[in-house]
Amino acid sequence: MNNNQAIMEKSSSLFMETYVRYPDVMMEGKGCVLKGEDGREYLDFVAGIAVCNLGHCFPLVTKAIREQAEKLVHVSNLYHTGPQTELAQLLVENSFADRIFLANSGAEANEAAIKLARKHGGENRFEIISLEGSFHGRTLATVAATGQTKFHKGFEPLPQGFCHAPFGDLDSLKKMIRPETCAIMCEPLQGEGGVRPLDKEYIQGIRKLCDEKNLLLIFDEIQVGMGRTGTLFAYEQLGVTPDIMTLAKALANGLPIGAMLTTESIAAAFGPGTHASTFGGNPVVCAAAIATVKTILTGRFLDEVRSKGEYLSEKLTILAERYPGLAQGVRGQGLILGLVLTPAGVQLGTAIVNKCFERGILINFAGNAVLRFIPPLVVSREEIDTLIEALDLILAKTDRHRTT
Ligand SMILES: *Cc1c(COP(=O)(O)O)cnc(C)c1O
Repeated sequence: MNNNQAIMEKSSSLFMETYVRYPDVMMEGKGCVLKGEDGREYLDFVAGIAVCNLGHCFPLVTKAIREQAEKLVHVSNLYHTGPQTELAQLLVENSFADRIFLANSGAEANEAAIKLARKHGGENRFEIISLEGSFHGRTLATVAATGQTKFHKGFEPLPQGFCHAPFGDLDSLKKMIRPETCAIMCEPLQGEGGVRPLDKEYIQGIRKLCDEKNLLLIFDEIQVGMGRTGTLFAYEQLGVTPDIMTLAKALANGLPIGAMLTTESIAAAFGPGTHASTFGGNPVVCAAAIATVKTILTGRFLDEVRSKGEYLSEKLTILAERYPGLAQGVRGQGLILGLVLTPAGVQLGTAIVNKCFERGILINFAGNAVLRFIPPLVVSREEIDTLIEALDLILAKTDRHRTT
């Protein structure tokens, strides 16, 4: 038994069986390449689930972490620190927001947003409408906000005050608004739900509804923020500004962080002691986030994301046309793209992802609908070509199996 096998067996025997993991032990990462225990290399189009947007071990981020870790690691929010102040300023200067709250994960950022929306709503205004197919996290309130029953099962009774509107249907959404409603929460593009963008008109309609009915609009940009769609935040391309926005995943390029951003007047609902986090805004994590945000905002970085996104999208479209039995199109924006599978393709989704893994290509299957591509935003056109060539071979083989 080699070391690799020993670690995998030990890990599987020790951890709760909440994760189904791929059969290797990851040891090192650089850019878009991961290395397994025995030196096997993987081209990474998952990026730790849209987290390592600058690639693995991006030098400026590593340097920022190292330097801050030598100065100060943690003091709690009883005291001010430079790194969290600098990060807050960067995010406020580059978004609609005036005020920020820092947490440690996406679910926590959404919890903060839900609490703020309720507090702002006032007495008897607590209900939040989210969309079917959405994903907002794994804590009880964010599970309740998540519009997919598979995440609810076995955890009932869920916290009250959440309901889910059918995706893409503005009239149904309008009918669900009650005196108790305080906010509408959605992802501008559903990530876990299968890379499903919301139509611009739909999302503008939601904004209008919120204005008419005096509701807060919460955008969960945990997966699509931080340059993923080709602008720092996805809302910038929609002609719509939210009242509250949540961020996490890529914000510190791999260190755990969550953020909730809002305007001055809404933030006023949270006074001293209403909400808190021990670790939130930790100096080391914030130092990593500062380096990450600055890099994304440098020069032509975001132009390149859009251009490489178009390149990948074109290549995937050609694959969809070549394998109509398995794939029926491409959707997404920037470098969050999904190859939409046919019903027959969906049956083979997991098998295709596993075949990619065996060939040293990491992708995943999202929303039981699409092969999802969320590479580090620093991915090169050559790396995109490598992915496409491997997928072409795998889809050709799978297609033959399917038809014979
Ligand atoms: C990942 C994700 C979350 C949850 O983030 P965690 O850090 O896992 O708690 C919430 N919303 C969206 C859109 C996500 O993609």
